[in-house]
Amino acid sequence: MLDKVLIANRGEIALRILRACKELGIKTVAVHSKIDRDLLHVRLADESICIGPNPSAQSYLNIPAIISAAELTDTSAIHPGYGFLAENADFAEQVERSGFTFIGPKAETIRLMGDKVSAIKAMKAAGVPTVPGSNGPVPTDPEECIRVANEIGFPVIVKAAAGGGGRGMRVVHNEGSLLKSISITQSEAGSYFGDSTVYMEKFLQNPRHVEVQILADGQGNAVHLYDRDCSLQRRHQKVLEEAPAPMLDETSRQACFKACVDACIKINYRGAGTFEFLYEDGHFYFIEMNTRVQVEHPVTEMVTGVDIVKEQLRIASGLKLSMKQEDIKLNGHAVESRINAEDSKTFMPCPGKVDYFHAPGGMGVRVDSHLYSGYTVPPTYDSMIAKIICHAPDRTAALKRLSGALDETFIDGIKTNIELQKELVNDANFIAGGVNIHYLEKKLGL
Ligand code: ADP
Repeated sequence: MLDKVLIANRGEIALRILRACKELGIKTVAVHSKIDRDLLHVRLADESICIGPNPSAQSYLNIPAIISAAELTDTSAIHPGYGFLAENADFAEQVERSGFTFIGPKAETIRLMGDKVSAIKAMKAAGVPTVPGSNGPVPTDPEECIRVANEIGFPVIVKAAAGGGGRGMRVVHNEGSLLKSISITQSEAGSYFGDSTVYMEKFLQNPRHVEVQILADGQGNAVHLYDRDCSLQRRHQKVLEEAPAPMLDETSRQACFKACVDACIKINYRGAGTFEFLYEDGHFYFIEMNTRVQVEHPVTEMVTGVDIVKEQLRIASGLKLSMKQEDIKLNGHAVESRINAEDSKTFMPCPGKVDYFHAPGGMGVRVDSHLYSGYTVPPTYDSMIAKIICHAPDRTAALKRLSGALDETFIDGIKTNIELQKELVNDANFIAGGVNIHYLEKKLGL
């Protein structure tokens, strides 16, 4: 087992990783920006190092500073969490070249999946169902572009190959606006991601977002941990997630699980990962793969009993998967509300001092959060401050439990989206199951 892990992240996921390390007897190093010295995991870690000023570019994205911290503390491995450097292949490469273990897939796998064009190509070749599209970057010849779009059929969506975080995509309804939309998306992609490559895909009108969690050891073994539904989104950002995904066609679902596991073996995947799909009319369409632990991983942990972060640490230690597919049983249903420090009307981040925090409790209630009374949420980073996850024998009971847990949660001093979350878990259409990715924005009148 690894001896000491440096946690190259902050907030709730840093705390989540620290907890898993402690349970496995692994020593921890917290790295943090100046303003983050009071983060809970920094206080709890065996060692901590300030790696720079507050802007992410100078701290959590500062590769030399992170590697120096690993050297100074004689760390054996680096866990990147999610966001920041988690899907940066150059970082993974530099970590390994400096003699540390990167807790995640090999750099070449991250690179393959980080470019959505190459990811789609690889997955299609491995037998994973994909969205009909341009099968590569959009053609340079305008006439050819129009021909390809017509062949796919309008509406199409133009997406940045290097895109992420719901940015760098544009829906095009007709031929007239195609070329302009492509050039705008190209320049946006260039400035956001440093890569202006874009591709086209059929824009599915009313899909759900369904994803499959996998674990693979890079030694020929891979399993799936079933699915999650993350259709409640605003601006392509997930707001509430659940596992398993309700009301799917069982034959397609099982075929999809098998395709994901087979693909992992084919590309010799190592670590935790997620295949993201759009699901419409009983069919799955692959959109991308995330090569890291995801924000919503707890719902899967609750229904499978598998600790995904511990498995990441075991795999990085060179151990084989500790379970076989037939050992992984689905137990009940889990739902997660993401709690953000934001204005309920404008959705603008609302940082500030938390005067008082009371977390909910009781059977089947899990809170993954770095908040405590007196903590100040800085304006510099993501506004997510807590995840409230409820597990129960069935979906209806899990939603009821989450509704109660949200009623019990008090975060005084800053604005949060708790009221919106309460509304969602009590929404009749959502309770009925199977709402699509546009549902939340429509409900909000956006
Ligand atoms: P990102 O990496 O930025 O999260 P994704 O490719 O995962 O981008 O897409 C994010 C969201 O955008 C999806 O969950 C879905 O809501 C929407 N989306 C992406 N591709 C399509 C498509 N072909 N048709 C309809 N909606 C799409």
